[in-house]
Amino acid sequence: MNTQELIDIEDKYFINTFTRQPIVLDHGEGIKVWDIDGNEYYDFLAGIAVNCLGHNHPRLVKAIQDQAEKLIHISSIYYNEPATVYAKKLIDATSFDRIFYSNSGAEANEGAIKLALKYTGKSEILYCGSSFHGRTILTLAVTDHPEYSAPYAKNMPKGFKKVEYGNLESIKEAITAETAAIIIEPIQGEGGVNVPSKEFFKGLESLCKEKGILLIVDEVQSGFGRAGSLFAHELFDIKPDIMTMAKGIGGGVPMGGILATEEVATGFVPGDHGTTFAGGPLVAAAANVVFDELTSEGFLDNVNEVGNYFKDELIKLQEKYDLIAEVRGKGLIVGVELTQPGGEFVDKFREKGFLINCTVGNVLRFVPPLIASKEDIDKLIVAFDELLSS
Ligand SMILES: *Cc1c(COP(=O)(O)O)cnc(C)c1O
Repeated sequence: MNTQELIDIEDKYFINTFTRQPIVLDHGEGIKVWDIDGNEYYDFLAGIAVNCLGHNHPRLVKAIQDQAEKLIHISSIYYNEPATVYAKKLIDATSFDRIFYSNSGAEANEGAIKLALKYTGKSEILYCGSSFHGRTILTLAVTDHPEYSAPYAKNMPKGFKKVEYGNLESIKEAITAETAAIIIEPIQGEGGVNVPSKEFFKGLESLCKEKGILLIVDEVQSGFGRAGSLFAHELFDIKPDIMTMAKGIGGGVPMGGILATEEVATGFVPGDHGTTFAGGPLVAAAANVVFDELTSEGFLDNVNEVGNYFKDELIKLQEKYDLIAEVRGKGLIVGVELTQPGGEFVDKFREKGFLINCTVGNVLRFVPPLIASKEDIDKLIVAFDELLSS
């Protein structure tokens, strides 16, 4: 089938929830992908910050193939080696003590909120302005997109209160005797690539300790090397009580998880939470490879070096063009705020062979595979310069 035929069929049969770009992707290699018509693209979206090792990574592909021949799924009723080995690796590398596997970011956040409510026995959760934590009813309750939750207003769960991202005073004022936790992204992705200060996060950590409320960091987008450290909260030198993850964890296979401290993890006992698919051997085999690559000598150094280079080059464009209001980000999560809507740029970039996207209407978001090189950045900068000058 050709591109138009496939688009027509999808438009007829899929429940109409996505606005898609009019290309049908077929295969990839490293940072590049090709559509079924043979057009080549630099993938600066990476499946929305998911394909951290790029496409067709030999070790990742081999691990998935080998595991598929042994076992794909067994349910959570039995032990499996890849998931157990992975849990130990991840916990040894972080300040957490226990893991619960999930299949997606929203599912991880939903579980984290359940755990915080159960552990504390309290009833209120704080969330931030411009946040994004998922599309289930519970995660919409902590997502600052009222237009997504408005149709369900009568069915929205209670006990969620919005505070201002990066503003400690606003959080202090919102805390009551019933506050169980705050859920927060160390760096906001969907909200427009926003990076608060270390002072804010250190202050938040102290405030949570003082008031006895749990700090839940949502690292679904910022984790797994994206911000130049294994997890973005490490940049702020804080120790949260709970962390959620997904996106980059398996390099493209659907997987997620919740990490918690020993103490907070006691909130759940058998029967309190569950899942059929999560932590299966196939996805865990993939996650092991991703973890080994991310923690290999020099890998994160490259993310920082290429990320800083990228930002420097974008700042040069900002000096040249009034259209760029701000350049921000850490590592390889980079946002460019424009003084006008950015949708048109997404199309123009695609026509030039670059896949990117736009959040909050006017922030171009660049989240390429973490294996991106300075040469790849140069290619994008040249294209951006041409677009801005025309
Ligand atoms: C993408 C995202 C989610 C939702 O993850 P899904 O896997 O789409 O459910 C939650 N939190 C953050 C910060 C995200 O970027």
